[in-house]
Amino acid sequence: IGKYYSMMLRLRIPGGRITSDQFLSMLDMCDELGDSTMKITTRQTIQLHGILKDNLRPTIKKINDIALSTLAACGDVNRNIMCCPAKRNDAIHTELERLTDELTEAMAPQTPAYHQLWLQEPGSDEKVLEGGGVPEAEVEPLYGATYLPRKFKMGISLPEDNCIDIYTQDIGLLAIVRDGNIIGYNVLVGGGMGTTPAKKNTFPALAKRMAFVTPEQVVGVCQAVLKVQRDNGNRADRKIARMKYLVANWGIEKFRAEVEKYFGEPLADCTEDDVTGFDDHMGWQDQGDGKLSYGLNIENGRLYDNDQRQLKAGLRAICKEFKTEIRMTGHQSVIFTDIDEADKDKLIDLIKSHNMPTTEETSTVRRWSMACVALPTCGLAITESERRLPSIIDKLEQPLAKLGLSNERFTIRMTGCPNGCARPYNADLALVGKAKDKYTLFAGGGWLGNRLAYVYKDLVPDDIVVDEMVGILSAFKTHRDENESLGDFCDRIGGEDLQVMAAAAPRP
Ligand code: SF4
Repeated sequence: IGKYYSMMLRLRIPGGRITSDQFLSMLDMCDELGDSTMKITTRQTIQLHGILKDNLRPTIKKINDIALSTLAACGDVNRNIMCCPAKRNDAIHTELERLTDELTEAMAPQTPAYHQLWLQEPGSDEKVLEGGGVPEAEVEPLYGATYLPRKFKMGISLPEDNCIDIYTQDIGLLAIVRDGNIIGYNVLVGGGMGTTPAKKNTFPALAKRMAFVTPEQVVGVCQAVLKVQRDNGNRADRKIARMKYLVANWGIEKFRAEVEKYFGEPLADCTEDDVTGFDDHMGWQDQGDGKLSYGLNIENGRLYDNDQRQLKAGLRAICKEFKTEIRMTGHQSVIFTDIDEADKDKLIDLIKSHNMPTTEETSTVRRWSMACVALPTCGLAITESERRLPSIIDKLEQPLAKLGLSNERFTIRMTGCPNGCARPYNADLALVGKAKDKYTLFAGGGWLGNRLAYVYKDLVPDDIVVDEMVGILSAFKTHRDENESLGDFCDRIGGEDLQVMAAAAPRP
């Protein structure tokens, strides 16, 4: 018997919208073909872990059979496009979802290779497309012969609701609304989280505001941006191949001029609109059509069943009972939509009867935290992340209560390596795996996602990370200005002074 190889399979689910039947099928697949858990990712999609190599084709076939896909969920292409997952009965959210779907198609590779490799019977000449059509394109019009130098990410949001972290995207589209209508988008370019500490020319970057585009221009401009990166991004060194390095090297003016050349028209300047808020859509929310949505916090997005918690069984029961459309958030959680007022108690009972904490029972610090997969399934992980963060939060809850900060909203994000899949570098506080059982502690990002954090301390041993964080929180409690957020406070004080304050702060 040879070696067994197991794989991770990531789906492409634009805006995180998925039907109950599709979600139930995915839960079945993780039991039948995966490691019996399912991960909701930080980009509003699903990952199955532990798929044996021989089961890859049947699993991808099953995923396509339920009208989902893994096409362009990985690789040097545009990945899953993020969009605000809130279900609202208004023209604005409807248009954002429509644009997400249009861009998903417009930015997708056209090659039939995916279908030939994964969906076609071996040895068959037949060509099959999702939905049963036959692919026409034998050439790749958008990606050319060699695709992109590196992965590419996009997200769409509203100024008052930056729930998809627009500043971390290669292209962020900020919808500009006037008199209840979207008049266009501020296009932000060149965000990206990953960094390689040993290579000093790598860094996390926030996207830069490039130009305002009308609804008629938006798809063409996005394709032009992608082409500029395709033709000018660094292909010699993958460590500096993301578009953020091109934007940083050229400067935003030159980058914009090149986009205008590819697009064929000059573009207008961004409007003054910028991000002002972040709604995680947890708990009960009014859809505006007489129905309600309920956002349920899923700790680190991991669905499993054990003696303590039955998340898979609970979500199965909810999907079967309500046939709800599920929407996955950029914070690894789920929203059940189209719930009648009369069914509120029934939904909460189903959550509680499967030993899942409701959002109302979840502490604020846990609700606003997230962690990447890391060990044991991510091959790049240096440290723990998803398996470690829950116990860190456990140990923070009591000190936060003693400090009177239980209701204080701030983001804590953790990753098992500097690649930054859980977007740590713009969080209020973050732990990034650096060496075995050692983390870099970042501070001073922010809940709005529009500021980078700084390195507070490097190589912090695992067994003192909680004390380091409690020190920062104690200093925050004592020295904050009125209504100042944790990230704003850390940013104002700066790393060196904060270390002094934190060391002197009495522990609660
Ligand atoms: Fe893996 Fe690193 Fe990404 Fe975490 S941040 S999932 S450890 S690559």
